[in-house]
Amino acid sequence: MDTNKDEDRESLTRSAARIVCPACGNDKDFLEVADDVILTSRYLQNDDGSFSQVDDDSQVLGDIRLYCAECNTDVSFFHQRFLDMLF
Ligand SMILES: [Zn+2]
Repeated sequence: MDTNKDEDRESLTRSAARIVCPACGNDKDFLEVADDVILTSRYLQNDDGSFSQVDDDSQVLGDIRLYCAECNTDVSFFHQRFLDMLF
């Protein structure tokens, strides 16, 4: 019997609250920083010698961290929620 269903839904709603920097209270400006990124772009050379980009692929090998853009506090513990709220 799953009697905790309503409670689960309630806590999901609560977790959708805004991300707020615990250090300075900023809730608007955030930086996502990725380590060790491999950027691969594919280009086709046109007849006139110019190039057109046809593909863009980035691979993140390292950590992705989230920082407050106001005071640079590491707020990576919010990163999953940040991703959930990214549209
Ligand atoms: Zn801050």
